[in-house]
Amino acid sequence: MTTRRHFIWLLPASGAALLSACSDSAPPPDAAPPAASPASSAEYPVTTAPAPAPTPAPAQTPAASGPMVEATDPTAMALGYVAVAANADKAKYPNFVEGSACANCALYQGATGSAAGPCPLFAGKQVAAAGWCSSWVKKAT
Ligand code: SF4
Repeated sequence: MTTRRHFIWLLPASGAALLSACSDSAPPPDAAPPAASPASSAEYPVTTAPAPAPTPAPAQTPAASGPMVEATDPTAMALGYVAVAANADKAKYPNFVEGSACANCALYQGATGSAAGPCPLFAGKQVAAAGWCSSWVKKAT
């Protein structure tokens, strides 16, 4: 049986429970997260442009210029390089072919008719077109 005194005693407790259920400060556990407001997306626009493609690295080309290979170069000494093919040590390098020179070697990267050009065996340096070394390989014609 509910008396007036009992009702007055229950009123504050039930009122507090109702207030906490309707409060915005603590959303119910199954509530969805709030959506972004239009104002916030206008302040911080999201760009959808694709990222720029990476720039390809420039092609590696042999140095068109550089110091000439010296006779004292360790690689030159190991390969028997000489600036003039006629001076090659034919006794030490019996594979020497008459008429062979850097200019007609498959590894020579100088332009046709050039006096000197790069060779991959001597990175950053140039060999004489008239030179020769024991790694000579006939250029395909
Ligand atoms: Fe000359 Fe060919 Fe020897 Fe290079 S590999 S130094 S181009 S002969």
